[in-house]
Amino acid sequence: MDGLGLPGSSRRERVLAHVDMDCFYAACERQREPALRGEPLVVGMGYEPGETHGAVATASYEAREYGVESAMPITDALERLPRKVDAVDDPERDVSEAGFYRPVELDYYESVGRDVKAILHDTADTVREVSIDEAYLDVSDTVDWSEARAWATDLKDRIEASVGVVASVGLAPTMSAAKVASDHDKPDGLIIVEPGEVRDFFAPLPVEAVHGVGPVTARELAAMGIETAGDLASADPDRLDDAFGERGREIRRFARGEDDRDVTPKGDPKSLSRESAFTEATEESETVRRRVRTLADAVADRARRQEARYQTIGIKVVTPPFDVNTRAQSLPGPVEDADLVESVALDLLTEFDGAAVRKVGVRVSNLDFSAGQQASLDGFETTDDDGPEPGEGRAVDQAPLGAFQERAGTDRVADGDRGGQTTLDEFG
Ligand SMILES: [Mg+2]
Repeated sequence: MDGLGLPGSSRRERVLAHVDMDCFYAACERQREPALRGEPLVVGMGYEPGETHGAVATASYEAREYGVESAMPITDALERLPRKVDAVDDPERDVSEAGFYRPVELDYYESVGRDVKAILHDTADTVREVSIDEAYLDVSDTVDWSEARAWATDLKDRIEASVGVVASVGLAPTMSAAKVASDHDKPDGLIIVEPGEVRDFFAPLPVEAVHGVGPVTARELAAMGIETAGDLASADPDRLDDAFGERGREIRRFARGEDDRDVTPKGDPKSLSRESAFTEATEESETVRRRVRTLADAVADRARRQEARYQTIGIKVVTPPFDVNTRAQSLPGPVEDADLVESVALDLLTEFDGAAVRKVGVRVSNLDFSAGQQASLDGFETTDDDGPEPGEGRAVDQAPLGAFQERAGTDRVADGDRGGQTTLDEFG
């Protein structure tokens, strides 16, 4: 094709991000109760207001200064940091040295987590949700290292402005380095580890920073004189093999920045898309249209290879500096039709004629992976089970275009991806 840097170009170093919300449960409580901002705040699992049972799920940074830690019994936490309400009534206590306690309310945190994930799915093709407040993104197709910082800053701003919680973000060419990077400068952190810097980045860190090294392994390594990731990276592989077997070689590879794990979404993807940036923002409509045609082809081809049919076709138009505009159109039923992807995408694009465009993307969503009979547009005339009311009975060539035009506006949240699933396989 035409050197758009479309996928398959494995030569390029991957651009992976790890996004991790800061003190997430506490952040959610503060989001709905702003008076808690800046105050020591403890969120307790199994805790009830006024009681002393339960354990600390999350302690805000202010509460940590009093020695309150995750998993600590509430009784211990209360010794270090009394409740404000108790301190007010107790002349022995200093109200300014007291804090707030709230019970965990997972349903609410999950809803906030979903709002964050919707933004992540909007900004990246490939998102692996790891827990309620944590995800890996692969943005290799859309972000160059030269613009990594601007992109991550924009993402952090979007999350804070539209959800009201703060994320720390790490970017690196490997998953393990990205994870360590997001943790390295918390809270409100942003660390970029460029290709070639990974090993140096790890070197001074304690071995526990290396993926796969827990406290037990760390103690065993310390007994061998291996205390930093740098020590581990340069350790004799045979010695590690003797001590830990194959896992020893693996943690050594991670310490050396060698980690070729891919960011793989859980389950079927919710959408398939392709984006491409212009070297400089362009106002030439024909240039933009050409690019959209190429992307539409690529997306349709990808859907065909994954045996996915789609009911929504959309575009993304990024105008300087990072304003993301999405437009999408839903069809009466799922199709697999490359020409239609192109014509709908170009039709949606006309709204942006003459606008400065930095990036464009084409996306298909509302995916259907049930490998049934291959539907084409013609199918809709005869199979009315598939066709909902609007657009029904129209001439075939008009049906999809007249159907529910969605105007996602410039609210920067992707259509069709709102239902990002949150899993709760990690605590806090
Ligand atoms: Mg977190």
